[in-house]
Amino acid sequence: MDYLRRSWAQIDLDAIKANYHELKKQVSAACKTMAIVKADAYGHGDGYVSRALQEEGADWFGVSNINEAVSLRRQGITKPILILGFTPPALAGKLAAQNITQTVYSLDYAQELSKEAVKQQVKVNCHVKVDTGMSRIGFFAQSGHGEQAAQEIARTARLPGLSCTGIFTHFSCSDETAVSSREFTRRQFNIFMDTIGRLKNQDILFELHHCCNSAGVICYPQMHLDMVRLGNALYGLDPSDDCKGMIKLVPAMSLYTTVTMVKQVQQGAQVSYGRRYTAQEGEAVASLAIGYADGYRRNLSNKGRVILHGQYAPIIGTVCMDQTMVDVTGIEGVASGDTVTLVGEENGKKVTLDDFAKINGTINYEEACLIGRRVPRVYI
Ligand code: PLP
Repeated sequence: MDYLRRSWAQIDLDAIKANYHELKKQVSAACKTMAIVKADAYGHGDGYVSRALQEEGADWFGVSNINEAVSLRRQGITKPILILGFTPPALAGKLAAQNITQTVYSLDYAQELSKEAVKQQVKVNCHVKVDTGMSRIGFFAQSGHGEQAAQEIARTARLPGLSCTGIFTHFSCSDETAVSSREFTRRQFNIFMDTIGRLKNQDILFELHHCCNSAGVICYPQMHLDMVRLGNALYGLDPSDDCKGMIKLVPAMSLYTTVTMVKQVQQGAQVSYGRRYTAQEGEAVASLAIGYADGYRRNLSNKGRVILHGQYAPIIGTVCMDQTMVDVTGIEGVASGDTVTLVGEENGKKVTLDDFAKINGTINYEEACLIGRRVPRVYI
């Protein structure tokens, strides 16, 4: 286990299970759940996380591409998997063989996939994606294009080689409580329901209708439909400041590193690349075994802080590729080999991925995904 002693991310699977059940409490018993585990389960490790959630009863898994889907199958996931993004149509056979459901998002794409499925003599399960306001992939149903979208989806549903069992859309601002955002989400929902209604009139029916992400689950109980897609909140991360505290979530990821060296420096000593920090007399500088190549962002230079021996220690100077320096002046007994909390809680002190996100001008989603492959995940 010594190789873990450099830097590691600790993933609390019980926290993920608890978050799953907390979210499940928000939906009706009949409503299915899709665990969104793309991007290696938002950096938490797709296999361990998905197996834990499969055991807890998650009905579906959502990923971004076929590599992620096959990775889940290889790691023991037998429940249905939906690929939310593009798959080369030539892989129709692979989709069918692995029982992976593909998103179809335009008539052109659906026709190509259908052609390949027929050629390869397979049937590919599909969910139809409707663009109700994101303006990314999806049949364009915004601003008066509902009928055209419905016609194209109807043609898609009748294509040979495809079996369209679900229809879904994605909200762009369900995590925002501003009146205009709420109106926009309601408009997206209405466009989605209108599209479904138009298809029903042509006897095009689907087994599963879904639109809610984590924030949708929390803020829009009337929109849960047949299934909800649970992402960020599963990992104990609030989808936004607006959603903070609305339900009880437990962060699943903690991040640790190791002190590699401690030194007393003289006044005026300059720390790290670019000499962007100048020390005071008698300052104690600890070098830590983590850097931006681990996803510990360079932007934290002179801004972030860590917890060492239960006390905050500020980052001083520039974060390097593999090392970071912190000021440990006044913290008793810091020595090489000590464990440092970079994300987590110790002695009532806390550093969160939200803190990183604030400093880096981004969202906690991105911070979780960016924790590098070089950082082993340890499961508790
Ligand atoms: N559904 C789709 C189509 C997504 O792209 C995502 C995430 O990006 C989710 C659901 C999950 O969203 P969240 O992590 O906000 O719950």
